[in-house]
Amino acid sequence: MPQTVTLRLLPAQAHDSTAIGDAIAQQLGIHNLAVNGFYKTHQSIDARSRQQIWYNVTVQAFINEPFHERPFTAVQYPNVSSAKHRVIVVGAGPAGLFAALKLIRLGIQPIVLERGKDVRARRRDLAHMNKTGEVHPESNYCFGEGGAGTYSDGKLYTRSNKRGSINEILNVFVQFGADEKILYESHPHIGTNKLPHIITAMREQIIAAGGQVLFEKKLVDVTVQNNNISTVITADGDSLTANAVLLATGHSARDIFELFYRKGILIEAKPFALGVRVEHPQHLIDSIQYHCPIRGEYLPPASYSLVHQSMGRGVFSFCMCPGGIIAPAATAPGELVVNGWSPSKRNNPYSNSGMVVSVELADVVQPKQAVTPLSLLAFQQSIEQQAFKVGGSNLAAPAQRLVDFCNYKISNSLPDCSYIPGVTSANLRDVLPAFIHERLREGLIAFGKKMKGYYTNEAVLVATESRTSSPVRIPRDATTLQHPQIQNLYPCGEGAGYAGGIVSAAMDGEKVAAAIALQLSSKY
Ligand SMILES: Cc1cc2nc3c(=O)[nH]c(=O)nc-3n(C[C@H](O)[C@H](O)[C@H](O)COP(=O)(O)OP(=O)(O)OC[C@H]3O[C@@H](n4cnc5c(N)ncnc54)[C@H](O)[C@@H]3O)c2cc1C
Repeated sequence: MPQTVTLRLLPAQAHDSTAIGDAIAQQLGIHNLAVNGFYKTHQSIDARSRQQIWYNVTVQAFINEPFHERPFTAVQYPNVSSAKHRVIVVGAGPAGLFAALKLIRLGIQPIVLERGKDVRARRRDLAHMNKTGEVHPESNYCFGEGGAGTYSDGKLYTRSNKRGSINEILNVFVQFGADEKILYESHPHIGTNKLPHIITAMREQIIAAGGQVLFEKKLVDVTVQNNNISTVITADGDSLTANAVLLATGHSARDIFELFYRKGILIEAKPFALGVRVEHPQHLIDSIQYHCPIRGEYLPPASYSLVHQSMGRGVFSFCMCPGGIIAPAATAPGELVVNGWSPSKRNNPYSNSGMVVSVELADVVQPKQAVTPLSLLAFQQSIEQQAFKVGGSNLAAPAQRLVDFCNYKISNSLPDCSYIPGVTSANLRDVLPAFIHERLREGLIAFGKKMKGYYTNEAVLVATESRTSSPVRIPRDATTLQHPQIQNLYPCGEGAGYAGGIVSAAMDGEKVAAAIALQLSSKY
């Protein structure tokens, strides 16, 4: 039986298997020749001490017994091409793809409809958008194979451990090509350059098992008979039927929310968060977090997570991308949305993160104004359109140096910024309403006190970080996970309001797939 050993190691030791073997021997009081091998089960960095940074590493060590590699059981996918049941999965983001894979495991045939293109064609549209500022409304950072998760940072950490098994999701990623270090790192991360291959392998598996993945197949309508979803209609005029419809269209499918609203299908306004993306030089964040002028060779680019309460509302950092790039994440022309990504090496000279304030319905509805389930969506869109106008043209983003923003001063010049379409010096008060601007200001000043050096004019704020989560919820029954009004319609993932991030969306996809299988087995 391997032994569990927890070690506290210097950064260089943590990257050297001989040093780890020696540390195991020392800890157990045995000769190092007795250590036949080990594999890591956990690794985190402890940078709290100003004197020394430590790696906390837990291993399974094989002492005086033969070494065995980390156990890994690959999931088997049966052939479902002639399965009794088929389910339409709308959206090939993490929720839709993991749902499709889970349906296959449960003996159900998934038909995945995706409005965007496959990852390779999508990459060309992203390059075109970055170059020309033209947004393709069906193929962008949010729409296309892999969903919003594909050209993202690929951070795989989540606090949603009650929603399902995080390890199960990480195992699936490894099975389709992710590095196995995501199984033990405390902050696992894949990187934009690696995600497309993994997504492609998932799609190939779905097809090999007899499922279907149809691109440029956009759901535009549904027919409901006797409170039962009977048909989905796609933009190219197809009508498709199935035993159930799993709707995983993400937080940016505004047309889906509008369709449901028009058809009287129950949806609700949902609080979300909005603000800016802040970019610092990465070396500055490294020196603050690691308490040294230059990051050591064995340390990854540093990250942070910040939160502050301002006037009864949370101001918080969101989706931090060390060594990352700020990306244009709008899904329609005339809107400006930013987000962030990083490659697997996180080796760009900038660090960026969303810096956002929670937004509630009461913030955006004027007295006497009618409240609708789309009120928060309309607010989100109006800010994005305003940012587009203030930015100028071709997706140039309005920007202000951090200290200037806090001092209500327009920046005379802007620092270099990773945002490829370019930044325009602007007063961000012309973009953000006062209830957001003032709280952001207070939060940024407070963060400067927590992290000495963070509050600097070397940092730039870029507007707007607005697609943090869905401003609409599509309700579902807590037990069956079906829509409360429409049978066989299963809202899923971030767009429906049940996930935030790649892993939680994937977990929700699996959970909804399992609920569908249960319902189908009891009905038919
Ligand atoms: C640039 C960027 C970086 C990010 N970085 C991270 C990160 O590092 N870590 C993390 O956890 N999260 C990150 N996120 C967020 C993460 O990507 C989302 O939380 C996650 O993808 C949500 O999964 P989902 O499947 O619910 O929805 P989505 O990923 O949004 O997928 C929805 C899919 O449905 C499709 N669709 C929409 N409407 C229709 C229709 N009518 N018909 C057919 N198909 C339709 C869309 O094209 C899309 O492919 C990032 C997001 C972006 C944009």
